[in-house]
Amino acid sequence: MLADLHAHTWYSDGSLAPEALLARAADNQLTCLAITDHDTTAALDTIAPHWIAPGLSLIQGVEISSLWERQEIHVVGIGIDRHDTTLQTLLLGQQALRRERAAEMDMRLKKAGVTGLQAYLADLPCTAVGRNHVAQFLIDKGVARSKEHAFKNFLGDRGKYGATARWCSIGDAVTAIDAAGGIAILAHPNRYKISNPALRRLVSEFKVAGGQGIEVSYSNLDPDRMDHLASLCLSNELWASTGSDFHTPTNHWMDLGKFRYLPARCADRAIWLHPEWPGRGKAMTASVINGA
Ligand code: AMP
Ligand code: MN
Ligand code: MN
Ligand code: MN
Repeated sequence: MLADLHAHTWYSDGSLAPEALLARAADNQLTCLAITDHDTTAALDTIAPHWIAPGLSLIQGVEISSLWERQEIHVVGIGIDRHDTTLQTLLLGQQALRRERAAEMDMRLKKAGVTGLQAYLADLPCTAVGRNHVAQFLIDKGVARSKEHAFKNFLGDRGKYGATARWCSIGDAVTAIDAAGGIAILAHPNRYKISNPALRRLVSEFKVAGGQGIEVSYSNLDPDRMDHLASLCLSNELWASTGSDFHTPTNHWMDLGKFRYLPARCADRAIWLHPEWPGRGKAMTASVINGA
């Protein structure tokens, strides 16, 4: 089982179309892929059955930006019904927040004499505009040297052109995923700028809110941190998930399926053993694709 349960398409800030992402998943020998775009399920509406290689299960997913104690925390939902109205109402709100945030960034950029962000964004295929797109715009304009430079100097919390969004609460994200029949998973827990005690509190509050899983293995995670996440997973009786957070082939260190095996002590908490594992019946078969 090589299950990559965290990946993006160009409907959020990934660079690939869904068809190309699915082809890459097959090339990289995945048996299971969840498409988890930021705050949108638009990619899932475009899937043609013949894009899914034999032996590959495609699982409907999403990654919701949320707030916990003023920290931005990402919650992945897998095995969702993308037609669920509670979920879609929340996602439409999040997409509006993204557009408002982009408008604020555009205003700041214009004041500094950098024009054209809105036109640039309007030409993209995405449904959920993000800072990655703004970073690319800044590179194209010669304002930033790289994505890292753009985030560090311009788009971070205190960045010159950065703007924050008042995302939904972490509880609302979990509730919406649950309403849509999905499993809520705490995404990339070591990427938040919080202390270890705060992370412990986050994980236990996530569980109390109805969260069921935690990403234990993902790209670029060192073994010590992975071991720490395994402990948090076990002590909170969560399911252990794996996902690359793939965005683009250019970031070769975050490629599909590129992460360590789950630590042995987590093996019987692997998410594919969950009683409601979506790969066992809720994967995208032709009938799901056609809207059933
Ligand atoms: P957003 O959801 O629009 O606020 O943007 C967050 C996304 O930006 C993340 O999912 C990453 O894809 C990307 N990102 C965040 N920080 C960085 C960074 N330092 N360098 C490159 N990409 C980043
Ligand atoms: Mn992203
Ligand atoms: Mn994320
Ligand atoms: Mn992601």
